[in-house]
Order: sequence, then C-alpha cells, then structure tokens
Amino acid sequence: MVYLDNNATTPLDPAVAEKMSLFMKEHFGNPSSLYPIGREAKEHVTRAREEIAEALGAHRSEIVFTSSGTEADNFALMGILDACPDKREIVISAVEHPAVMRAANHLEKKGYRVAYVPVDSTGTIDLDFLRDAITPQTALISIMHANNEIGTIQPIETVVRLAKEKDVLVHTDAVQTFGKIDVNVEKMDVDLASISAHKIYGPKGVGALYIRKGTHIQPFIHGGHQEKGLRAGTENTIGIVGFGEAARIVMERGKKDRTHIDKLAEILKKGIENGIPKVRFNGHPERRVKNTLNFAFPGLEAEAILLALATKGIYVSTGSACSSESEEVSHVLLSIGLRPEIARSSIRMSLGRFNTEDDVRAVLRELPEIIDRLRKISAFDPEE
Ligand code: PLP
Repeated sequence: MVYLDNNATTPLDPAVAEKMSLFMKEHFGNPSSLYPIGREAKEHVTRAREEIAEALGAHRSEIVFTSSGTEADNFALMGILDACPDKREIVISAVEHPAVMRAANHLEKKGYRVAYVPVDSTGTIDLDFLRDAITPQTALISIMHANNEIGTIQPIETVVRLAKEKDVLVHTDAVQTFGKIDVNVEKMDVDLASISAHKIYGPKGVGALYIRKGTHIQPFIHGGHQEKGLRAGTENTIGIVGFGEAARIVMERGKKDRTHIDKLAEILKKGIENGIPKVRFNGHPERRVKNTLNFAFPGLEAEAILLALATKGIYVSTGSACSSESEEVSHVLLSIGLRPEIARSSIRMSLGRFNTEDDVRAVLRELPEIIDRLRKISAFDPEE
C-alpha cells in the first residue's frame, strides 16, 4: 500500500499505539474520582496536557480537550459568541474546513452576520477585504493556519495585527499545521487554536482547543465539571494519553520528519510536472505545507484517477475527506478561481512520516500511464 492521504488521517505511530495499549490495560479510573486509580488517570491526562501545551508553546491550563478538531472549531466560534452577547458578527475565510464553514453557516441561520474573506489564485486571503470586514460588532476572526486541500499557509501574523488594532479575538484552525510546521501560539499571538490528534499520528476522536489565558468563552458542551467546566463529559483518557505521546514525538522528531517529507514531496511534484502533460498545480508555490500536493488533470474526473490509483494500491483523495462522499465541487478549488470542471479533475496527495522514496517512485511509475490511458478514452483535447 502506498498511503498518500495523510491530510485525511495519519497512521497511528507504533510508539503511540504502545503507550495507549499499556495505559488501557492498567488504568480504567475516571479522572474525576478522588481515590488513587482516579488520581492516576488524572495525572496521565495532565502529563498529556503538558506535552501538547509544550509543543504549542502554551501553558497546560490553556489546553481544553475535545472530541475532535471539528468540536474544537465549533467550540471556538459558538463559545466566543456566547461570551459576548452584544456582538453579532464573525469573519472567516472562504476556504475554511467544513468544521468552521458549516458552523458559521449555522450561525448565519441563527441571525449572526458572517463575512467570508475571499482568496486569490494561490489560496491566500485578501487582507484588505479582511481589514474592511471588521466592524465594532465583530466578536471573532477565524482564519485557518493552512488549508487541508491545497496546503496554502495564511498570513496569520498580519491577521492578528489587524485584529488587535480593533480589539477583536483571533481563532486559527491549526489542524493541518500542528506537527507539520512551527505552531507556536505565543509567537503567532492568536487567542484560540484548534488541533487534532489523528493528523499527528495519534488516535482519532480526540482534539484540543488552545484558549489563551483570560479569554472569555462559554462552554459548547454542557454537563459535568471536566476541563474546568469548559468541556463537559468524562475525558477520553486513552485517546488523550495517545495525543500527548503523539505531540511528544512531534517535538522529538519534528525537524527530521519535515526534511524527509519535504524532500519526497519535492521529488513527487517535479516528477508529476515533468512527466505528465497539461497538469496544473493548485496552491501557493511557496507558502504552503509542503506535504500537500494538489494537481488538476484537465479533461478527467478526479474520481476515475483515484479509483485507478487505488487498484494499484495507491491511495490519494479528491479533496477534504468530509466532502469526498458528496457530489459537491470543492469550495476551496472554486474559491481559487478554478472552473468547476478543472476543480473536478483535481486530486490531492498528502505525504507523511511513514512515506518512502519507493512510494514516490510507485506514483511516478503508475500515474502518467493512468492519466494517459484515461485521457485516451475521454474527450480530452490536448490542444485545447
Ligand atoms: N480542520 C481542518 C483544517 C481539517 O483538515 C480537519 C480534518 O480534516 C478538521 C478541522 C477536523 O478535524 P477532526 O477530523 O479531528 O474532526
């Protein structure tokens, strides 16, 4: 198997699996219980919180565990609006993940105003539009750190500067950057940031929201007193322990992974651009997470390419995992100005820690043949 869909999810790192397995066998206590097995479970959760906080440049008291990146995003938007009832507006980008986009759409239906900041052909937000979109009614700006489909990194530092001038909070969805590039919340100066364990070789079903100390936010899930009353529900202790270990490994070998992945991605990109006629690269040439490669193959349907690659054991995607089952054309690719038929011809390859040069060679061997064969049976006109 050649797995090139690491932005959808990553395989569990064996060290994370080992740590979770040991914990699972030995610790079933509820962290809220006061007797020793409860306290032990709580200590493990605290250690994981410290590890994640350290990897983010935060303090452990600023990390709230959630069930996913999706919940962290929803929590950020709803929680901040709930905490400032006199403000009725938020600003997001046009290329947000559905976890922010649909949450914002829902808020619109409830009467809030949402400004959608457009992007240019590289997927970078329009900062002038953003500046003008901020009003005295704006409670929050939520701009993703990097895009999951094309990898473009947003100028968060400038977003923060513009927001601070008008005293507005900033949330960033860092699900696709945490573990891939430096995500230091202190340096970025954001107020809130979402992350997710299964994108960093940790387990699925656990995420976290960084909330800067002193930020006024209301809970999104109501119930018990867990997470200092900010996120009710008995903690996913096994998942949290795995998340902590995955974050520790990111700190330990982040640079090494990055060099390895960037090198493979560059070989793959050049090989595709040089080996396949009429291919179009989608995304920013430089300011992007380098593991993410998105290409359009005009004249073809991405699904046909994906299925043909899958028969060779090569797994890629047609965009965000959340939209791959729907017929929708990617809102990200449309936002960067692609015509719907070009967007529909685009596939995403995302590399990860466990990919090898052999994987890249396999793609460069199979993909040109597949594209050539599919184009021969389609109405593709290479002169067009
Ligand atoms: N935000 C971004 C940018 C993502 O890529 C994803 C997952 O694909 C999410 C949020 C949602 O994270 P989770 O799968 O943990 O809900």
